[in-house]
Amino acid sequence: METAFECDHGWVVGIVGDDAREPVGWRARCSCGRWSGQPWRRSAHPLGHDPAERRLHSRSGWLDPTATRLVLQDWECHQLEMRELMPVRLALQDSESARQRLVEAVRFVRATGASWESIGQALGTGSAELAQRWYGTGTAV
Ligand SMILES: [Zn+2]
Repeated sequence: METAFECDHGWVVGIVGDDAREPVGWRARCSCGRWSGQPWRRSAHPLGHDPAERRLHSRSGWLDPTATRLVLQDWECHQLEMRELMPVRLALQDSESARQRLVEAVRFVRATGASWESIGQALGTGSAELAQRWYGTGTAV
């Protein structure tokens, strides 16, 4: 089971334009693989540099350390948000684990001869059909 914090590393990737040669902008990415930051546009001219408008000057296409830190601040916000949401993720994992244990328990008692009707009563559904629909893989007895 996955319990490690997945958002432990962020980095900057270039957004490549139609000519596929130099980046037209950049965005941050996260090691979780499910997040990428809003784009920062590239300005080829120094006067176009305006971080408040998410526009960074780079003549070469490479970001200097200061600009890289600006882009990575997006990832740091994401990482902070994901840390705050860890209790929800852990509880979700607990509930998925509990559901898997329930499925295995139902399969076990079915294999030892319990009827869907009695399983339905144990599950609180009071219905053999519901118990089989939710947990069954074979045919009802
Ligand atoms: Zn992440």
